[in-house]
Amino acid sequence: TVGAIGYGSYEIYSKRHPLEQKPFDPTKRTVVVLGSGWGAVSFLKSINTDDYNVMVVSPRNYFLFTPLLPSCTVGTIELRSIMEPIRFITQHKTRNVKFYESECTDIDPESKTISITDVSDIKGSVSNTTIPYDYLVMAVGADNQTFGMAGVREYACFLKEVWDAQKIRTRLMDCVESAGFAKQAPEEVDRLLHMVVVGGGPTGVEYAAELHDFLKDDLEVWYPELADKFKITLVEALPNVLPMFSSQLIQYTESTFKQNKIEVLTKTMVKEVADKEIKVMDANKNLVSIPYGLLVWATGNCPRPLTRKLMARVKEAQTSPRGILVDDYMRVAGAPDVYAIGDCTFSKYAPTAQVATQQGLYLASVFENLARMEDGQNKKITPFEYSHQGSLAYIGSDKAIADLPFLNGNVSVGGVATYVFWRSVYISNMFSFRNRFLVVGDWMKSKVFGRDVSR
Ligand code: FAD
Ligand code: MG
Ligand code: MG
Ligand code: MG
Repeated sequence: TVGAIGYGSYEIYSKRHPLEQKPFDPTKRTVVVLGSGWGAVSFLKSINTDDYNVMVVSPRNYFLFTPLLPSCTVGTIELRSIMEPIRFITQHKTRNVKFYESECTDIDPESKTISITDVSDIKGSVSNTTIPYDYLVMAVGADNQTFGMAGVREYACFLKEVWDAQKIRTRLMDCVESAGFAKQAPEEVDRLLHMVVVGGGPTGVEYAAELHDFLKDDLEVWYPELADKFKITLVEALPNVLPMFSSQLIQYTESTFKQNKIEVLTKTMVKEVADKEIKVMDANKNLVSIPYGLLVWATGNCPRPLTRKLMARVKEAQTSPRGILVDDYMRVAGAPDVYAIGDCTFSKYAPTAQVATQQGLYLASVFENLARMEDGQNKKITPFEYSHQGSLAYIGSDKAIADLPFLNGNVSVGGVATYVFWRSVYISNMFSFRNRFLVVGDWMKSKVFGRDVSR
């Protein structure tokens, strides 16, 4: 704690009095980083700006702590508590880091340039340009997987970005208020209060868990006339939820969900998405219609348009439709001086913040060694090795589950103590003292006053 407070006061001081930074040096190579998520920020935190000019291109000028995003959909935590402006992150570098809030729309590995577009609503006289790079680090993440199904983008809510959480929060309260509207038809009340989650991975499970807590702790208190009408259903195509966890924890999750009256429909495939209902093929191969008020879609990742564009440019080397192929040094196959990390790559690891962070850190050390080799030092670049720290998920009513690698074995734990552990892990993994302070404040606030039910 003393360390945390010490670091905190340093941070508060430096935020009020930004350090003076060196300007760009034309004799140094320029590294352009695409993205401001887990991979990009981990790389940025450790890249040595004495050796390189660094430029960042991302359509959002902040980092988002995604593990706590499900908590923001119901107001346990406020969104701004898990956002960190990219300039707060780069202020600690010795050299000024340029940031352009824009989307990279194309990469030309031949001329070593990228095209960027200002995607904000307000634009100046220039909103498209190209910039050259010496090295490019792609950390653009991934898109939401929809399996090309019509209606998903139109009617469902994703859960990946700040605006997704905002949309879910507003829609949920709209459903509740419309269900309570004067003389509302009983079957409409049932439909409006039916919240359906598609996808039984960690995001879908954690969202269902947060929603359950919100119903129990707050909505049933403030809307007693609707209390027995709320319903949550989780739809999963596989035989069970959370395939990356041990079978013991899968069972524990499913029984906790049962106790909490969250219906889990496994071996169930969504076939059609309309504005008020989805059609699914259930475990017995019957086509069933499920009316919903709120539909949350969390079925995993697919490559972004930019990622597909780059793969198409070097298609002899890029043979996987699922993401960018990189070697053990994070180099993009077929595109010299282009590196890729995190969810935009196709690798043997799961697409997690844990992987993206380790890859970002690793890549910064590669760049450090490249610079030292140019200075004539005898350095070697070793391949990337992933070290799995374990898997954690929140499952509702103050319970969490954890699979932790431990002395060549594996420990699986679940319950309230694990939840305390879950909280402390997330808090200690936040990049800034400011975020930690805000999140702990939000937790205390929702404990004392309950969650805010305003739209
Ligand atoms: P992201 O963090 O998604 O960052 C991508 C960045 O690229 C963003 O800044 C984006 O704006 C930017 N970008 C997009 N397009 C362009 C473009 N064309 N040009 C330039 N920039 C672009 N992982 C865990 O390990 N533990 C967890 O508990 C966990 N919980 C999660 C909960 C939720 C709700 C979600 C959605 C994910 C969770 N994950 C978790 C997964 C984790 O968030 C991702 O694996 C991680 O974000 C991947 O990092 P990334 O840098 O590859 O991509
Ligand atoms: Mg990133
Ligand atoms: Mg992120
Ligand atoms: Mg991608």
